[in-house]
Amino acid sequence: MAETSGVLTIDLDAIAANWASLRARHAGMGGGEVGAAVKADAYGLGAARVAPALAAAGCRHFFVAQLSEGMALRPALGPEPMIMVLNGFPPGADEEAGLIPVLNSPGDIAAWSGTGRDVLLHLDTGMARLGLTPAEAEALAADPSPLKGMRVRYVMTHLACADEPQNPMNATQAARFAALRARLPTAPFSFANSAGLFLGRDFASSLARPGCALYGINPTPGRPNPMRPVVRLSVPVLQVRDIPAGTPVGYGASWVAPRPSRIATVAAGYADGYLRSLSGRAIGRHNWQDVPLVGRVSMDLSTFDVTDHPAITPGSMIELIGPGNSADEVALQAGTIGYEVLTALGTRYRRAYTQTA
Ligand SMILES: *Cc1c(COP(=O)(O)O)cnc(C)c1O
Repeated sequence: MAETSGVLTIDLDAIAANWASLRARHAGMGGGEVGAAVKADAYGLGAARVAPALAAAGCRHFFVAQLSEGMALRPALGPEPMIMVLNGFPPGADEEAGLIPVLNSPGDIAAWSGTGRDVLLHLDTGMARLGLTPAEAEALAADPSPLKGMRVRYVMTHLACADEPQNPMNATQAARFAALRARLPTAPFSFANSAGLFLGRDFASSLARPGCALYGINPTPGRPNPMRPVVRLSVPVLQVRDIPAGTPVGYGASWVAPRPSRIATVAAGYADGYLRSLSGRAIGRHNWQDVPLVGRVSMDLSTFDVTDHPAITPGSMIELIGPGNSADEVALQAGTIGYEVLTALGTRYRRAYTQTA
């Protein structure tokens, strides 16, 4: 029977290959290990499948945002890999899971002092978001005794503007990070995200933390994407109808057929992460050709003008995301970034993971 829901294909081999290429790149910069950001369910692609595929490729360091994500990941990864929780968590909350908290404040440090546990120490060098402020980091440098009774596995910071190589914030953050590290007790350090791995040797560290590039998002916006594509989303045409010129389509009657038209209705809407801001702006793909979306994106349905595509009939698939229409391109059409397109992907698609090994 024809598909009645969308099919989301996730290429685990491509994710593993992307990780290996970033590891080679980091080594070429003079850096050390490369971990993986698998927060937000591996950017919407399914951490329970993605993280083991990365572990099989050699990845040993995983970053999640929340405690619950780390707890869910531990059984999938087994006891060895490091699972670091960026938002932190209170001592004891991880039960026996052996998660590693990122300490983001003097209060976090006090809470974990004397526990004997492995921790990460996060310094804010320019985001004013999480991490020790420069003043708090200076105070800790002057008196590092609160760090007694725990093992700082990595001192980390996060780049605000890594996707803009010309932005002076990058060098500013690198300089602040180096200055603070030099005054704190010696520890390995963790610096670059995906885009940071394309900024050169000043951004190498003991442990890079790429996320988006693993999933095929371009870490070098404005330049050709060096990563392998990972995601393909195809949705079935439920109905095709012929309408005379002047017929409105969809909510708000926002699009009115300028000529006699064929309209294909597909099974994906904003509840599936096909963002409503794509209304009237997106393209789908069929047989390597662009198919324009017309009218508003509804909760469960979207409409495409297939007047020039007579081969499209009920049961045909229209590709919403794929090599010819990447998550970055869909994001551009929606006025957002590829990260949001991926993390918004809904739960109603049939998910197909491809993995050869
Ligand atoms: C999300 C995140 C990353 C990964 O960033 P990408 O831009 O997806 O590579 C790295 N470090 C921190 C602290 C993050 O929050």
